Amino acid sequence: MSSLKVTDPEVYDLVRAEESRQQDSIRLIASENDTSQAVMEATGSVFTNKYSEGYPGKRYYEGQENTDKVEVLARERAEELYGAEHANVQPYSGSPANLEAYYALLEVGDPILGMGLPYGGHLTHGWGVNFSGRFFDAHHYAVDEETERLDYDAIAEQAREVEPEMIVCGASAYPRTIDFERFAEIANDVDAYLLADIAHISGLVASGVHPSPVPVADVVTTTTHKTLRGPRGGLILCKDEHAKAIDKAVFPALQGGPHMHAVAAAAVAFKEALEPDFTDYSEQIVANSRAMAEELKRRDFRLVAGGSDNHLVLIDMVASRDIGGKPASTALSEAGIVSNANSIPFDERGPFDPSGLRIGTSSVTTRGMEEDEMTQIVEWIDAAIEAREDEDALANIRREVREFCTDYPTP
Ligand SMILES: *Cc1c(COP(=O)(O)O)cnc(C)c1O
Repeated sequence: MSSLKVTDPEVYDLVRAEESRQQDSIRLIASENDTSQAVMEATGSVFTNKYSEGYPGKRYYEGQENTDKVEVLARERAEELYGAEHANVQPYSGSPANLEAYYALLEVGDPILGMGLPYGGHLTHGWGVNFSGRFFDAHHYAVDEETERLDYDAIAEQAREVEPEMIVCGASAYPRTIDFERFAEIANDVDAYLLADIAHISGLVASGVHPSPVPVADVVTTTTHKTLRGPRGGLILCKDEHAKAIDKAVFPALQGGPHMHAVAAAAVAFKEALEPDFTDYSEQIVANSRAMAEELKRRDFRLVAGGSDNHLVLIDMVASRDIGGKPASTALSEAGIVSNANSIPFDERGPFDPSGLRIGTSSVTTRGMEEDEMTQIVEWIDAAIEAREDEDALANIRREVREFCTDYPTP
């Protein structure tokens, strides 16, 4: 980065500082990961200079001989990776991808039924402060109060009452397997479209470690940067019958020129995800998440839904240690362990200091950590929460964490 260093030393220093922060801490934010050097190189390439509104073979501007090829590569690899009939690789990110799926299949004011934010759903699934809550007649399903898992019979009953045009499934903070086939039956029953948003689990779905919604959902949306480990971006997969509507929704309805540097980098990430070792990585993500869950339970932490089938664990901090999620995440951060406070189902506390703490294993798995390291991390988590008012103790853990991290270099 010699040019950056000369042109803008302030930004250069911040990039270097962020590299150190990422290297020196244990990063457990469930939506984050560490891309490969190859993905970074494509992201930082000259494709950022090119305008390419339209689709391969049908662009508005000249000079598309390379953009066309790179977008076709990305599209074909995405279709192969997920066994999808059609892929659109242009969405800028996960939220625009959802907006585009709605735009393609719904009219303003249509009833939709999605998972409520406090139960693990995403803002774009019809929450009030989001466009999706404002432009649609949004209804929400919860999880079962007892098991904290999806209650498919209850959702089916709610769907019969609401008669939604679309059911949205998928989550940002749900630690268990989602039964997409059951969701498809529920949607079929009420003649609704099914949108599956696999933003978090798309890496696990790509490698078959989590069941895929692609065969049963009308449209599948995802980010490319969470468990899938690509650049920041979005992806829409759909049946051929919806391909035209989806493509028109992305462009010209809701986006302008695609971010071709991100599309090129997504193509690289899809190639990486097609390699056999991506399956090993995905399996290790789940093994690590389960190992963390087991060690947390051994230490009497209460886990939402009792454990984990995927890449994340949701801890009820109030029930476990009588402390809110925010002071817990702050103490962990002081100790070099980065996570986030998160609502838990039926949370009695507000969104700024909810009862839960969400942790995920994507980044630590990418860096080569396995089950034994998860046990060690949980030991630090427990110690940091115990020592939350003791700055010296937190600083000590932080030193141990930094030392430990030197054995697990970021890509
Ligand atoms: C992260 C996420 C998104 C949004 O992705 P952005 O890239 O942040 O816009 C959408 N849906 C779900 C379920 C997510 O977890």
